[in-house]
Amino acid sequence: MDCIFCEIKNRKADAEILFEDENVIAFLDIQPINYGHTLVVPKNHYDNFLTIPKDELSKLMQATQFIAGAVKRSMNADGFNVVSNNGSSAGQSVYHFHFHIIPRFNKDFSLKPSFKTYSSGAMKDYANQVRTFISKYRDIYYE
Ligand SMILES: [Zn+2]
Repeated sequence: MDCIFCEIKNRKADAEILFEDENVIAFLDIQPINYGHTLVVPKNHYDNFLTIPKDELSKLMQATQFIAGAVKRSMNADGFNVVSNNGSSAGQSVYHFHFHIIPRFNKDFSLKPSFKTYSSGAMKDYANQVRTFISKYRDIYYE
């Protein structure tokens, strides 16, 4: 298996590692959107947000919160984005789950997509589509 994040974790590839504990490793993204752009990665390999076990996700989230605060303050950023891209349509390029922490500065750039408007009745239809799925799978996947 060729996974750049596993290679970084195993010190087979270089990275500017910022933080590490028994569950999580964080390092600078080599193609930063802003300087200080950081990736927070579970040490165990999972493809995406849907496949990481809940207990590991919880530890990853706690580390992400801590590191986001450190990145924001040390970069003197005005804010930050925490982003997870899942699937190629969402821009995922490394299939080892991770969060991006992107420090943001006033008026640096805009991530605003063009917003859609629900046509009459469509919002309820979309909600029903999701609700049907949730009611079918809630007992299996959510506890
Ligand atoms: Zn991996």
